[in-house]
Amino acid sequence: MVKNQFTIITLFPNAFNDFMQTSIIKRAISKKQISIDIVNIRNFADNKQQQVDDAPYGGGNGMVLQALPIINAINNVKLKRPNAKTILLSPQGQQWNQRLAYQYSQQNINYILVCGHYEGIDERVMPYIDEELSIGDYVLTGGELPAMVIIDCITRLIPNVIQHQSHLNDSFSNSLLDYPTYTRPEEVLGMKVPAVLIGGHHEKIAQYRHQQALINTYKKRIDLFKKYQLSTKDKIIIEEYKASLKKSKRKEK
Ligand code: SAM
Repeated sequence: MVKNQFTIITLFPNAFNDFMQTSIIKRAISKKQISIDIVNIRNFADNKQQQVDDAPYGGGNGMVLQALPIINAINNVKLKRPNAKTILLSPQGQQWNQRLAYQYSQQNINYILVCGHYEGIDERVMPYIDEELSIGDYVLTGGELPAMVIIDCITRLIPNVIQHQSHLNDSFSNSLLDYPTYTRPEEVLGMKVPAVLIGGHHEKIAQYRHQQALINTYKKRIDLFKKYQLSTKDKIIIEEYKASLKKSKRKEK
């Protein structure tokens, strides 16, 4: 049996076709490191037209997904997986981030992801939901993209899905953004790869990358930078960077 299991409850099963057949997710499925099952909410409709939405009580625009088809879909999955945790994708949920992705990836993965649509879902589904997750303070058409975002983030952090070193320095993993990366050729339109990266001196490369990650975070995400515990060496790096900025501004004048 596959250890890490995701089941997606959705009105749009086809939305996941390419996702499941591409890159790391495809490989993780074929190596049985994860499984993704898709459940169509319409299969739990109680009418011939397979309609599962209706107008909101109290009036207003749009349609609301009915409670019973979703509750029955969740209960049906739980028959096979009674310990599965049911997560509703919702802009009102706890905001997803790299720290949560790491936590989830290290636990026993047994998740049912419920995708809302239209104006959302009937509130009476909520007693069947263990947790609500949002991927950010904006509103999407449906929970399908958020479900893919969350599965993708978790999967790449599952041990042995990708090499540990590949995500060790990813942005947010250590409160810093990643350092800039380069690949062949050595020169592109007159722009050269920093010499230290070609020298083969591992310690110097590691130092250079850390320095660049610090500067990158300072430049792009001062909020993250302020939270990072700077060492004495780090403080010198940033002071030197600020001085170089001042110098180049003076030159411009
Ligand atoms: N009226 C709802 C509200 O303002 O809370 C939004 C409904 S939205 C148009 C339809 C569905 O998309 C939601 O039920 C949810 O499943 C999903 N969704 C939209 N934005 C999301 C976000 N930022 N994070 C997670 N899911 C989201």
